[in-house]
Amino acid sequence: MKNMSIKLKVTLWYTVLMILVVGAVLAFMWIISGSVIETDLKQQVTSTVNAISNNISLEDEDQVDIDGNLIQNGVYMVVYQDDKAPIKGSFQGNFLSDGIEFVSGKTQTVTQNSIDFYVYDRQVTLTDEEHQLTVWVRGVAEANAVPNLMKSLFMMALFTLPFLVLIAAIGGYLISRQAFKPMDKLMVAANTISDGKDLSKRIGLESKDEIGRLAKTFDGMFARLENAFESEKQFTSDASHELRTPITVILAQTELAQKNALTLEDHQEALSTIHRQALKISQLITHLLAFTRLDQDGAKLQKSELDLSSLAEMVCDEIKASKQTSIILNTQIQPKVTMIGDQILLTRLMSNLIENAYQYSHEKGHIWVTLTQDKKDTKFSVSDVGIGISAEDQTKIFQRFYQAESARTAKTKGSMGLGLAMVQKIAQLHQGQIDVKSTLGKGSTFTFIIKNK
Ligand code: ADP
Repeated sequence: MKNMSIKLKVTLWYTVLMILVVGAVLAFMWIISGSVIETDLKQQVTSTVNAISNNISLEDEDQVDIDGNLIQNGVYMVVYQDDKAPIKGSFQGNFLSDGIEFVSGKTQTVTQNSIDFYVYDRQVTLTDEEHQLTVWVRGVAEANAVPNLMKSLFMMALFTLPFLVLIAAIGGYLISRQAFKPMDKLMVAANTISDGKDLSKRIGLESKDEIGRLAKTFDGMFARLENAFESEKQFTSDASHELRTPITVILAQTELAQKNALTLEDHQEALSTIHRQALKISQLITHLLAFTRLDQDGAKLQKSELDLSSLAEMVCDEIKASKQTSIILNTQIQPKVTMIGDQILLTRLMSNLIENAYQYSHEKGHIWVTLTQDKKDTKFSVSDVGIGISAEDQTKIFQRFYQAESARTAKTKGSMGLGLAMVQKIAQLHQGQIDVKSTLGKGSTFTFIIKNK
């Protein structure tokens, strides 16, 4: 049963059900029609005997005259004299009337040689002016001989209903086979993908039924898988690329210094270039490690009840103190905003957004940091009036290593395009999201939103 395909199971179930229903119908027909015909036949015997009885008259002294046929509608009749000696008529050959008691007005069922007979007797008193004579009319019908209608009905059902069951079974099998056909398509697609052959493969079913919807869900999942694999691949290749550039510079500088550096100054310049590049590599590795940890330990956040207001104040103060610029940082922080979260990660999120605002602001620009909380949500946002981000770039800046062209030309020393990816990851780990609103050349607003349940 376990190894049976669903289409076979469904077909089998309906076929068995149909057979049961048909069986029940046949049995019902047999019982009902049997009893109907039995009463019908009994009535037939009674009414035929009664009709003949009314048409018997006395002729001469003891001569009986019968107006009508003594064999009618399968009923055989015999007229007896009062002492039960037959006067007229005969029974069917296989019926023996002798020994059967005469009872007027009652139908008896008599079985002879396993054949049922209905026997009906009627006592009739015949009179004319002078005489009186009592006769008996006995009518007999064979119970099994007449129910032709029932038999033919039953036989018809017996032959047609199994045929119907067969048609239903075949039809059911064909329909379920048709219905499950897309499953094969689904299996092939899933197999191709799990073999790692082709991640871009989709099932692509157009139907809107259950299987169509299932296929759509799978397609969605395959698309996300493909995206995830692609971005993983991209990340590895980007990371290698980012590492290769400083290493190439270091190699070139060392070779140059070994061959050509004559003065102490030349050596120092080479060393400081090497130091700068090594620093870049170190930073990159720190970032990569941080990412890997977030990916691996995402579920194990150090969550605690945090005073987000104090945290935001602290981050703003620290950054403000570390900057020597003419950019002004304004804060509007609602007191006593709390949430459950990882303090280190949320600090990183806030400082990343504020650092970016500094980095991409014009001189003498303004930055606004706001924190609000209401019943619906908690919002932390950072706005600047800096270089802004084009609509196209807004969809890409959260990708790892992505840097907008406008940002590359701005003073982006040491930046690697990893900050926002990290920010988004942290937001997601807190069931929040990062919203960006920006106009190129005018400024940007990044908002971290967490819905309050
Ligand atoms: P990084 O700042 O190191 O380049 P991020 O991931 O923090 O990397 O940012 C990715 C890109 O998003 C930046 O290169 C820049 O193009 C754009 N960006 C981020 N923040 C801002 C901002 N406040 N204003 C303008 N552009 C921004």
